[in-house]
Amino acid sequence: MSLSEETKKFLCVSCPVGCLLSVSVRGKEVLSVEGNSCPLGVKYARNEVVNPVRTFTSTVRVRGASLPVCPVRSSTPLPLAKVGDVTRELAAAEASAPISIGQVIIKDICGTGTDIIASRSLGKR
Ligand code: SF4
Repeated sequence: MSLSEETKKFLCVSCPVGCLLSVSVRGKEVLSVEGNSCPLGVKYARNEVVNPVRTFTSTVRVRGASLPVCPVRSSTPLPLAKVGDVTRELAAAEASAPISIGQVIIKDICGTGTDIIASRSLGKR
């Protein structure tokens, strides 16, 4: 069965201009990109079609701290397809105070090669 051609729309967020991209695709193959003001838009469109990634931000429960949770983020962008698994693993996790900004809370979360790190410091209660 051959895949049909379709057009997808993406907002390029590689810079503040925010070009609206019109991307013609067949499966995971990018046939053409229109609406980009520079070559970065083509690269962005290809990544969105083949392997979209996002910087992940959330919170993790903390034991013995002045606050019940600590904001965290991924050390590098995560594959969008893994965000559900990462959310579930993080929901089941608990860190211990004190926490320093940048501290690794979960290493290599869900085998992605990305660490979950603290976005702020938290002292003991
Ligand atoms: S295509 Fe180029 S100019 Fe347009 S938003 Fe992306 S990076 Fe910025």
